[in-house]
Amino acid sequence: MDISYIINELAEDRENYFNAVAPPIMQSSNFAFKKVNDMRQAFADEYSAFLYSRGLNPTVDILRKKLAALDAAEDCLVFNSGVAAIFAAVLANVKAGDHIVSVDKPYAWAQKMFNVILPRFGVTTSYIDGREIENFERAILPNTTVIYLESPNSWDYALQDLSAVAELARSKNIITICDNSYCTPIYQRPVEMGIDLVLQSATKYISGHSDVVAGVLSGRKEMITKIFNSEYMNIGSGIQPFNAWLLIRGLRTLPVRLEHITKTTHTVLSFLKKHPQVESVIFPFDEDFPQLELAKKQMNGVCGLLTFVIKADNVLQVERFCENLRHILMAVSWGGHESLIIPKCSGMQRSFFKAENPDHRMLRLYVGLEDADYLIKDLERGFDSMNNS
Ligand SMILES: *Cc1c(COP(=O)(O)O)cnc(C)c1O
Repeated sequence: MDISYIINELAEDRENYFNAVAPPIMQSSNFAFKKVNDMRQAFADEYSAFLYSRGLNPTVDILRKKLAALDAAEDCLVFNSGVAAIFAAVLANVKAGDHIVSVDKPYAWAQKMFNVILPRFGVTTSYIDGREIENFERAILPNTTVIYLESPNSWDYALQDLSAVAELARSKNIITICDNSYCTPIYQRPVEMGIDLVLQSATKYISGHSDVVAGVLSGRKEMITKIFNSEYMNIGSGIQPFNAWLLIRGLRTLPVRLEHITKTTHTVLSFLKKHPQVESVIFPFDEDFPQLELAKKQMNGVCGLLTFVIKADNVLQVERFCENLRHILMAVSWGGHESLIIPKCSGMQRSFFKAENPDHRMLRLYVGLEDADYLIKDLERGFDSMNNS
């Protein structure tokens, strides 16, 4: 299916709403019936009818169809956050006594679920370095039911060979779940590589304007239907109609935004690589990236997020760099119009900072929709300020 068709037309039944180009926001909690039998059928199969908006809603349905098509998946569900999508995907595929194999350092709240919530129900998790397929083979136990992936990781961009992991998992009847937030379906489609369930935080590029928190979970119809009828309805964290409408609006410009950000990211990256205050950069399509070949094989593109290590003798220099930026905001998240930065040292006490450790001098930069020159001037301002006390 053409991406242009998916984004501009798919699932938009305009004749049903006065030929409006933008779809209506069906801000309704419930839907009325004329016939008892129609209501009976809706009760019997809520995934086939508009009954109550914790289940299906017409505005959300337009979005679901588009997002599933973009993921090349049969079906998808849209949640009120990326984390709700992670929770539903994992919960649907474990029971007491089961074991999960997860990549090292997955998204923080995925880790909290694995480390804090699931052990209360007798589900254990082993973390592995997902860059080598042998590590998956070694970690799989007879009771492993889920392999949890995040490729690339959103700080060090470690990748997993998605086709190889999917094949291994299939041979052992294990479900694979992959967090695809970094790439979006425009740049990577794990379903096409055999991954069972793919999720992304739609808060990032799908929204694109830093004004919605949402998540997408895609997969085969039978698996998504089962999750709808159980975890989705029970957690009750489906996306609300207005937020779904904002995501439809975000989708209209998704490829253009990514294209622009891709160009700007490359310019900013070259600037950083040449800068005397920069020790190294980490970016999946950089020629020095250790997994460049795999990145080029399974991703169509890459943009926005990059990590760089600055040369600094102490934590205050790193802090001065960040605090003297005028346009790049110091904030979490990414995927919006605005460029952002997070210093790794904001996650630790100052006294813990060791200048010898390059990880402590890491900064994660998100390149937004501003012009490259505008951002480079701002970064220069940060570098210039490092040695002023
Ligand atoms: C932001 C993010 C999430 C969580 O999504 P929310 O929408 O914030 O709940 C999950 N995975 C990755 C990689 C993320 O960046």
